[in-house]
Amino acid sequence: MSEPEVVIKASSISFPRDRKISFTNGELISYDPATLQENGRVKVSSEEDVQVAVAHAHQAFPLWSSIPLGERISNLKRLSNLIYDDVEEIAALVSRECGKPKIEALTSEILPVLNMISVYTSQAEKWLAAEKPPFFWLAWLLGKSAKITYKPFGVVGVITPWNYPFYYDFGPALMALLAGNTVILKPSEYTPLVGKKAQELFAKLNLPPGTFQVIHGAGDVGQALIRARVDKIAFTGSPKTARAVLATAAERLTPVVMELGGKDAAIVLEDAPLETTAAGVAWAGLTSAGQVCASVERVYVSEKIAKPFIDRLVNNVQGLRMGQGLDPEVDMGPLTNERQLEIVKGHLRQAVEHGAQVLTGGKTKDQGLFFEPAVLVGVDRSMSLMREETFGPALPVVAVKDEEEAVRLANDSSFGLTASVWSLNRERAEKVAQRLRAGAVTINDHAVSAGLPNMPWGGIGESGFGRIHGRQGMQEFVYPSVIVGERFPRWKRLWWYPYNQKSYQFFRSLLVFLTNKPLLDKIRAISHLWRNLDLRRLH
Ligand code: ADP
Repeated sequence: MSEPEVVIKASSISFPRDRKISFTNGELISYDPATLQENGRVKVSSEEDVQVAVAHAHQAFPLWSSIPLGERISNLKRLSNLIYDDVEEIAALVSRECGKPKIEALTSEILPVLNMISVYTSQAEKWLAAEKPPFFWLAWLLGKSAKITYKPFGVVGVITPWNYPFYYDFGPALMALLAGNTVILKPSEYTPLVGKKAQELFAKLNLPPGTFQVIHGAGDVGQALIRARVDKIAFTGSPKTARAVLATAAERLTPVVMELGGKDAAIVLEDAPLETTAAGVAWAGLTSAGQVCASVERVYVSEKIAKPFIDRLVNNVQGLRMGQGLDPEVDMGPLTNERQLEIVKGHLRQAVEHGAQVLTGGKTKDQGLFFEPAVLVGVDRSMSLMREETFGPALPVVAVKDEEEAVRLANDSSFGLTASVWSLNRERAEKVAQRLRAGAVTINDHAVSAGLPNMPWGGIGESGFGRIHGRQGMQEFVYPSVIVGERFPRWKRLWWYPYNQKSYQFFRSLLVFLTNKPLLDKIRAISHLWRNLDLRRLH
C-alpha cells in the first residue's frame, strides 16, 4: 500500500463555467471540462418562450394523444436508426460536455437509450392496455362491469441533469410520448449541446408540431416551466433542487416524479472474490468520475478481508489513466463543472480534518477539472463524505465486524437509491439484499438495473419517489381512469330515489355478506333481501 497522501491542493483553475457568467447575451456557453475550451452555444429561452412552448404543447396534445398507440410506437422507433447513424458525433459530444470517456457515453448513455427504445416500444401496448379489475361479487350482482384505462396527463415537463445528459434527455421523454403526452425538455445548463442534439433527432421524426420541444437555460428556466401550465413534471437532479421544484409544483398541485441522488453502499462479505470485487467496486465508484446518482460512495468490507481488499482497491485506482475522454485509452475524465469539483474537495478536506486518511489520490491537476480518484479509510458518519452525496471520485472504505454491522451502517442514510452486495454465496447475498433500504440491490456488480429498461428505477427517502423505466415508470406518465358499465340500463338502480323503508331494509340485510358472521345469519339474510328487493323497470 502506498504512503497516505493527505494533501489536497487548492484549485488554481480560473474557470468560466460558473452559472452566473456562463450566459453571454442570452446565450448558454458549453465548455469542455478537460480543456476549458468552448464547445458551442445555445440561446437561452425567455419566460415568454417557455409560455409559448407550453401553449404549443397543449395545442398539440389532442392530436398526439389521439394518434393510435401503434402509430406513436412506429414513429418513435425510428429514433434508434437516427441515433445509430450519429453515434460517433453523439459519443464525442457527450464526452466533450461531461468530460467522461467516449466509451462511457456509449455503454452508459447511447446503449441504454437504444435499449429503452427497443423495450418501451415493444412493451408499450401491454403496459398501457386497459385492465379488468379483480372480480367482485357485489359489483357483479348489482349489474356493474368495470375496467381501468390509462390516460396521458397532457403536457409533461422533463428537467434533466448534466451527468448522463443523453440518457436522461431521452428516457422520461420517450415514455411520456409513448403514453400520449406532449413533452417539453429542459436539459441541464451544463450540457445544452446534448439537449440540442436531442431536439435535432426528434425533429427528424416529423411529429405533429409542438409534440416535443426543448427549452434551454438554468434553474430559472426550469422554474418558468413548472410555473407554466404543465400537467406533470419528471425531474432528475439533486435533493436540494428537488425541494425548489416541489415548492413551485405545489402551487398548482402538479404531480412530480423525482429521481434524485444517492449515497450507495457496497457491502463486501468475507467470501467475495477479492480481485473481481476490488475491480468492480473501483468501477462502480469512479465511472463518470463518480458523478453518478448510483455511485458507490461508501464501502463496508468484512474486517476479515479488509487489508487485502483495500490493497487491491488502491492498486486498481492507481492504475486508472486520467485524461480527455475523447482519447480511447483513457479511463477517467475530469469532473464536469467547477461547482462539483468544489463539493468533492470540500468533502475530502473536511474528512481529512476529522481524521480520515487518503490512501491514494485526492489532488487536483493543473489543467482542466481533473481530480485524482481517492480511496480513504478512517472515515465515519461525522464526516459529510459519509452522509452527503459527494458525486465525485472518492471511495471511503470502512471495515466492519460482520454482516449485521454492514447492513446497519448501509441503511443509516437519508438516501436509498441502490446498493450492492459482493459475495460468492448467492443465497446469503440475497438475504442481505432483502434487508437493504434501496430501490435496487445488485449482487456482484453495481447499479446495472439503470441499463435494464424493463425494470423500475428509483429510490426512497432523499433519493426521490416515483419510478422511471419499466411498467411502473410508464405508469408515471398516465393516470388510471376507471370506466364502469351497467348491465341493466333500463332498470332503476336500487340506491336511487325514492328512498323508502324497503330499500333501507334491503341494504341493511346486504351488510351481513361483507362480514364474517356465521353462515346461518347469511342464509337468513337472503330471504330479507328477496322480500325487500324493489325492482322497477323504467322506460
Ligand atoms: P445537478 O447538481 O445535477 O446540476 P440540479 O438539481 O442543480 O442538479 O439540476 C438538475 C436540473 O434542474 C438542471 O436542468 C437544472 O437547470 C435544473 N434546476 C436547477 N435549479 C432549478 C430550480 N430552482 N427549479 C427548477 N429546475 C432547476
